[in-house]
Amino acid sequence: MTNQAAPRVYRTEALVLKGYDYGEADRILTLLTPHSGKMRAIAKGVRRTKSRMSGHLDLFTRSTLLIARGRQLDIVTQAETVENFRPMRGDLVRVSSAHYVAEILDEFSAENLPNYPLYALAIATLRQLGGDGDLDLTLRSFEMQSLAHTGYRPQLHRCLQCGTEIVPGQNRFSPKLGGILCPDCGMADSAAPPISVPALKLLRHLQTNPDGLRSLTSIPVVAKQEVEQRLQEYVTHRMEGRLRSVRFLEQVRADQS
Ligand SMILES: [Zn+2]
Repeated sequence: MTNQAAPRVYRTEALVLKGYDYGEADRILTLLTPHSGKMRAIAKGVRRTKSRMSGHLDLFTRSTLLIARGRQLDIVTQAETVENFRPMRGDLVRVSSAHYVAEILDEFSAENLPNYPLYALAIATLRQLGGDGDLDLTLRSFEMQSLAHTGYRPQLHRCLQCGTEIVPGQNRFSPKLGGILCPDCGMADSAAPPISVPALKLLRHLQTNPDGLRSLTSIPVVAKQEVEQRLQEYVTHRMEGRLRSVRFLEQVRADQS
């Protein structure tokens, strides 16, 4: 052992993405941190009512943690809530949306790979899920920005195949290739569905100016639905088909309408 060994205890902020009960009173957590990417840790005794950590490690809670290095899993020894996103809790559609967001964050982030922009996006999105903005646009904006922050920004201005500038016409969106194909290059991905002009406009807006979406006076409902489908196909393709919460969210919405 040298003096350069990592400290045995460290402090970090973290967002709780996932947790499952372990043993009699423990919980194993998947955490997203601002400067160390994703990590897993165990919170011992957290399910006991007397635990000082209980409530500070609930799902979608942003907390400051004191963590001790463990042989297999690091151990959370203290937790203090920074923000618990209360406004979005208590509403099934909003909470289901948060599950969807957490699932994407879990899939798109890597252990020990710092991604501060993704962390900041996570916090901003959970706040927006409790706000009075358009929930669908919040989720679309999250999908688009999370793709961008993890190296999968879709190409929306030039044809993926020939590089020509995309103009209004019979273009296609290829989730497999990650962007637009011009009318001449549609065969590069014969499964790629066509993309309408309003949907392409909305995709570009989500990519370059998500905060400006509020100023768009009217977005056609069909364009929103089209963008939702295309982005979810792209996200799912990136995750190799492993997206569970989206179906649950669809079901919750159907039950409530
Ligand atoms: Zn082309």
